[in-house]
Amino acid sequence: MDIAELNRKISACKKCTLCLDGGSPVPGEGPPDAGIMLIGQNPGAEEARVGRPFVGRSGKYLDSVLEKNGIRRDRLFITSVVKCKTPGNRKPAPAEIATCMPCLLEQIKLLKPRTIVLMGEVAWKTPRLESIRYMETYHPAAAMRFPKIRERFEEDFKKLKEYYDQAALSRHQG
Ligand code: SF4
Repeated sequence: MDIAELNRKISACKKCTLCLDGGSPVPGEGPPDAGIMLIGQNPGAEEARVGRPFVGRSGKYLDSVLEKNGIRRDRLFITSVVKCKTPGNRKPAPAEIATCMPCLLEQIKLLKPRTIVLMGEVAWKTPRLESIRYMETYHPAAAMRFPKIRERFEEDFKKLKEYYDQAALSRHQG
């Protein structure tokens, strides 16, 4: 199976009740050779409506931080732990996280990224593999709200630029 096929499978998933809340699962997007994955919590209403990750307010903020650091969004694979929106945008329950996690793990297995950026505490629960470098940062929604968190978040993306340049170099050489 390739990533496009897996994402199609995720789009049709009905494994838990979150898919009943309206809006389809949002599998995520990015090139198969991205090298870097960004993982958030779960899509909001706007993401579920258009079927793309991080397109609402926090997505716009994330875009601005990427742009400021010279990181092209279309060179990253962007997704979330839970692929469906939650009622009232509440935090996904542990059982929902556990039910959806295999989709993310399958994506990681296929994409084989060098670096994974875990954005927010739900993403921090992602099981780790030894061959991958993990960076824990905050969710962009929290960074937008709290100046101290924003400072740390933006520092982390400055660091990510180094990893991004390494990934670009190895694509060029490979
Ligand atoms: S949250 Fe995950 S497991 Fe539940 S229906 Fe959506 S894609 Fe499937």
